Amino acid sequence: MVDGSEAGEARKRNDRAKLDALLGWCEVTDCRRRSLLEYFGDELEQDCGNCDVCLSPPEVFDGTEVARKILSAVYRTGQRFGAVHVIDVLMGKDTDKVRQHGHDELGVFGIGAELEQQQWRSVLRQLIVLGMLTVDSAGYGALQLSQKSRPLLRGETSLPLRRDLLLARNAKAAKRKGADVAVEDQDLFEALRECRKRLAVENAVPPYVIFHDATLMQMAADKPTSGEALLEISGVGQKKLERYGLMFLDVIGQASR
Ligand SMILES: [Zn+2]
Repeated sequence: MVDGSEAGEARKRNDRAKLDALLGWCEVTDCRRRSLLEYFGDELEQDCGNCDVCLSPPEVFDGTEVARKILSAVYRTGQRFGAVHVIDVLMGKDTDKVRQHGHDELGVFGIGAELEQQQWRSVLRQLIVLGMLTVDSAGYGALQLSQKSRPLLRGETSLPLRRDLLLARNAKAAKRKGADVAVEDQDLFEALRECRKRLAVENAVPPYVIFHDATLMQMAADKPTSGEALLEISGVGQKKLERYGLMFLDVIGQASR
């Protein structure tokens, strides 16, 4: 929508930066309320225990290396370029801009073949949300290192990132596959959805806050019979297990009778 709008280039740049900030916030690995309050200069002493991240923590991987690659690329290209160019350099792309600035001669050129463009973009957003990189809004969106990036560059801290950002492409395929619940599991799947609907109404929350469809599909396929087995299913965390586990186990138990 930003790209297709009638707005001038400066406005579009500003809108893209805002969109990035919002997407970055969607991808945080810590308590969402906490990061939101932090953004506005407030502090929360402990995790809220009530947001989607607290209720079902995302799987994370050690993103230290990939983060350091981005930070190095930003630094080596002189902190004068925006996300697109920095990622082009990392991925070793042969573009006019890369050649014009001789960036194909840099040591960081092409060191980022392990991720795809969208994934680099996501890592980059995280670094912005975490305050390690700043976007110079006056200067064409140039990325710049901040003080906060130092410990990571020095190897003093590590950086957890959401694993699902690595799976972005596969997830779509998995979702399509999940759309076909096995014929023999259809009834159970529907019963699980009914149960979710009831709980959603009782708790006055949208159904997906309880469990996503993908989680219910996996329940229908695996038919867990204990809390432990239920925890194995992606999307079920300790808190949700305590809150809703029994109800769903009950539905699964009834279906097998
Ligand atoms: Zn929280």
